[in-house]
Amino acid sequence: MALRIFSLLVLQAALAWLGHHWRGWPGAAAGVALAGLVLVGIDTWRGRRFMRWAADPQASPQPVGGGLWGEAAYRLRRALRAEQQKAREAAQRLDEFLAAIQASPNGVVLLDAEGRIEWCNDIAVQHFGFDAERDRLQHVANLVREPAFAAHWAAQPDDREVTLMGRGDAPGRPVRLSVQLHAYGDGHRLMLSRDVTALAQAEAMRRDFVANVSHEIRTPLTVLAGFIETMQSLPLTEAERASHLRLMAAQSARMQALVSDLLTLSRLEGSPAPSLAETVDPTALLAQCEAEARGLSALLHPAQERPQTLVFGPAPDFALAGAAGELRSAAANLINNAVRYTPGGGRIDVRWQRLEGGRASLSVADTGPGIAPEHLPRLTERFYRLDRSRSRESGGTGLGLAIAKHVAQRHGGELRIDSRLGQGSTFSLVLPAQRVRPAPAPT
Ligand code: ADP
Repeated sequence: MALRIFSLLVLQAALAWLGHHWRGWPGAAAGVALAGLVLVGIDTWRGRRFMRWAADPQASPQPVGGGLWGEAAYRLRRALRAEQQKAREAAQRLDEFLAAIQASPNGVVLLDAEGRIEWCNDIAVQHFGFDAERDRLQHVANLVREPAFAAHWAAQPDDREVTLMGRGDAPGRPVRLSVQLHAYGDGHRLMLSRDVTALAQAEAMRRDFVANVSHEIRTPLTVLAGFIETMQSLPLTEAERASHLRLMAAQSARMQALVSDLLTLSRLEGSPAPSLAETVDPTALLAQCEAEARGLSALLHPAQERPQTLVFGPAPDFALAGAAGELRSAAANLINNAVRYTPGGGRIDVRWQRLEGGRASLSVADTGPGIAPEHLPRLTERFYRLDRSRSRESGGTGLGLAIAKHVAQRHGGELRIDSRLGQGSTFSLVLPAQRVRPAPAPT
């Protein structure tokens, strides 16, 4: 300010002096007035330049120079820079925020007050098949067309979830999404989606399992109750009583077998993997199974019919690390199945083998009816049977292969099934190398 007044005074003095020289005192007064005009002119020009620049700082060059206008330009520029920095930081925060939502395992869709899509993450794209660019500002109800969603949309937003069919849902390959709508801001809505296919499948399996177990137990119970009623209400001969009791014993044995298999399965599911410290003798393990299998074979195919041929291979040159009881149960299930499903005159070969990579397997091959390829993937499901009555007649519970598969997996191995319709089957319990030990030296 002082500089401005000083410049004005110097200019006025100079022009007054020149004016005085030129025309005396009137000339001096004109000089003073002219100095004032010159300074006002310069000020107006600089002011206009400043306003032009302030209106659009990018388009016109920044006015240079000091004084009042230079100071104003400097301050405005500083304020502008601070604003730009703030805007950059806000944009960066928004980017980070969107990246965090992008990383969410759930689908996230931001909807405006009209229900149009403002933004969605990649998971939402996968869940609903949206196109993040093309579907921007499309109404969500036009894109998610399930009636259940329409009803949910029409209701007031709250925390309730609605389950919808996801993209790619097909018969036998269901995809389920759980969707929630939450209100936020000024009428906006947040749509969250979660893939609940695995949960829905587990729930369906649990329901099927309970229904199957109930059915399996109800049948022998009904038979038992019928016999009890008959014995209570009718006079029976000794032979009839004996026959009824035999049939009742068979039904209760069936229930016992079922309960015992169910307990085995639940024990397998609830306990930690078998230790590597316990050594199992595979020869002793097979000896028990062999005695049981020969007994079962003699019962199902008496010698006067066409007996089965059961061949047990030589003792293996290795020991195993695992749970003896579990391995025996798995082996017995495979061997007994071969005996039960192979007709009289058939042959069953059981042997321990070393496989490549240090693994070992127990293979049970039969010349039975074989299994059509479409059944193979489902064979180890609980209660999955090809022929229900055949399985029951021979004392099956429908859980044998489920148990064998579980045991194999708990030991780090697998259950392999190789079968062709009409050409017999081979079931192999494969154990990994870390479960195979050198045989203990004979004492
Ligand atoms: P089950 O108690 O009915 O035998 P499993 O789980 O042991 O139950 O076996 C499931 C089904 O697999 C059986 O019902 C049978 O249809 C089929 N199966 C199992 N082993 C054999 C085999 N060796 N040959 C032919 N079919 C078999």
